[in-house]
Amino acid sequence: MPKTWRPPLDVVVVGAGVVGAACAYYAARAGLAVAVVDRGPVAGGTTGAGEGNLLVSDKEPGPELDLALLSTRLWRELAGELGAAVEYEAKGGLVVAQAAAGQEALRAFAARQAAAGVVAEEVPAERLRELEPHLSPGMAGGFHYPQDAQVQPALAAAHLLRAARRMGAELITGEIVRTVRRGADGAVLGVGTDRRRLDAPAVVNAAGTWGGEFAALAGVHLPVLPRRGFVLVTEPLPRIVRHKVYAADYVANVASGSAGLETSAVVEGTPGGPVLIGASRERVGFDRTLSREVLRRLAAQAAELFPVLADVAVMRAYRGFRPYLPDHLPAVGADPRVPGLYHACGHEGAGIGLAPATGLLIAEQLTGKQPEFDLTPFRADRFPAA
Ligand SMILES: Cc1cc2nc3c(=O)[nH]c(=O)nc-3n(C[C@H](O)[C@H](O)[C@H](O)COP(=O)(O)OP(=O)(O)OC[C@H]3O[C@@H](n4cnc5c(N)ncnc54)[C@H](O)[C@@H]3O)c2cc1C
Repeated sequence: MPKTWRPPLDVVVVGAGVVGAACAYYAARAGLAVAVVDRGPVAGGTTGAGEGNLLVSDKEPGPELDLALLSTRLWRELAGELGAAVEYEAKGGLVVAQAAAGQEALRAFAARQAAAGVVAEEVPAERLRELEPHLSPGMAGGFHYPQDAQVQPALAAAHLLRAARRMGAELITGEIVRTVRRGADGAVLGVGTDRRRLDAPAVVNAAGTWGGEFAALAGVHLPVLPRRGFVLVTEPLPRIVRHKVYAADYVANVASGSAGLETSAVVEGTPGGPVLIGASRERVGFDRTLSREVLRRLAAQAAELFPVLADVAVMRAYRGFRPYLPDHLPAVGADPRVPGLYHACGHEGAGIGLAPATGLLIAEQLTGKQPEFDLTPFRADRFPAA
């Protein structure tokens, strides 16, 4: 007979990336008995292969921005609790326009965001270099977003899980969840790995880019696809980039559903010294091949923003696979098709930023509380079956 975890669990979270970690943290904090299972190590999925931008600046008003604004507040609270360990930096973002038309578009975008609660301050061309002394001269202007921040994603996942474990959560790594067990009425009874059975009336799908495969184990359709991204890491440098800096066309890249290659550099310094230059977007399945063309484009775009980077050595590049859903919104909340099944996946290029709000909303649903806002736009059954 396979081993059953004791004491009885309230919820099993599948996935120990930043989203699963946040779900475990808020569920444990709400007093639930939680187990987290991952087939690999903590942050071994996309969380360990992303950047840590916590952005409101790139989001249109709507459900994703609502999640981001809630997360902004929660990350600030978490930074107080988890301390410097997660390398939280409330450094703010600077979006720059290369031409007057771009600045006009940024102005209109910022005005719409302001109505939703985003703080954005216009920066005239002549003041840009007060904020970023190494920025290329000749930019048309920009917008400063003081709410944008940064964490180190793998550390964030690890420390959220550590805090959850202090509140009683169990962490099981190196075990693939192979089955979602359901009763005669269809409701979730728990999950099974090769080594054990975990009985629980609730299961959270925090399987990231593999969230669609996991949903299929529970018998439901959820079309999560990989969207590949590369990041360049420079040699350690003195603090030459102070904010998260990116060009206006990044927002259009993020919102695009195109399968083709899109690049628009986001440049940021890190406490350790290396500058991170991310990120490309393309849908090429789980192809891990290093693309010199993508790296070349990212490097050139970064040097256009910061000419000083043209002479800097790149130490390494890495890639990851964002969990992409066709309408760019994650699946968050109870699945009406399977009682006891909850989804917390499909956050594409914003999962680090959106993790705390996702975790809190899931914990609220698990404990029968009214979630902070309407989760209808995030319902997993919004995609017609293939
Ligand atoms: C290049 C790049 C740059 C990025 N930059 C940013 C950024 O600046 N800001 C931001 O917010 N986001 C960014 N992202 C996106 C972000 O990294 C992801 O949205 C986020 O990491 C998703 O976290 P997750 O916990 O949902 O998934 P993951 O971290 O992938 O975790 C899912 C886990 O589920 C496990 N799993 C799957 N199936 C099973 C199973 N059957 N049994 C057991 N375990 C299973 C996997 O092993 C994995 O560990 C970036 C992504 C990339 C690729």
